[in-house]
Amino acid sequence: MSSPRVEVIDRLCKGCSICVEFCPTRVFEMDGFIAKVVKEDACIKCMQCELRCPDFAVKVHTE
Ligand code: SF4
Ligand code: SF4
Repeated sequence: MSSPRVEVIDRLCKGCSICVEFCPTRVFEMDGFIAKVVKEDACIKCMQCELRCPDFAVKVHTE
C-alpha cells in the first residue's frame, strides 16, 4: 500500500494552523502564512486535516 499524497492548495490556505495542530503525526509545518507538507510519509490517513481545514485547502489522496 502506497502512502497517501497530502496536498495543501496554497491559494486556499489562510494560514490558521489548524492542520498543524490536529495532525497526529506532524505532517505539516507553517511556512509563514501557508501550511507546508513536510513529513508526508508519516500520514496515517486519519483525515483530520481535510475535515478540520475551514477553507478546504487540504486534500489527502488515498488512491
Ligand atoms: S487548516 Fe487549512 S487554512 Fe488552516 S493552515 Fe491548514 S491548510 Fe491552511
Ligand atoms: S490525514 Fe491525518 S495523518 Fe495524514 S496529514 Fe492529515 S491529519 Fe495528518
